[in-house]
Amino acid sequence: MGECGLCHKSGEEVSLLGANHKELGSILICRDCWKELYQTNSMVAGSSCGGKCSTCCR
Ligand SMILES: [Zn+2]
Repeated sequence: MGECGLCHKSGEEVSLLGANHKELGSILICRDCWKELYQTNSMVAGSSCGGKCSTCCR
């Protein structure tokens, strides 16, 4: 449940991932946007997410 913080896609088939965006901070985004951010190097790599996301900090 939830909605992508970038493309606002929502629905049960959308799995949201936590990402630390360089400009938007800690957001939940769909896998497509995650890949795009990853490829465009728009994520803050390896920095703390504050424990909010479920995919890292474990
Ligand atoms: Zn998205």
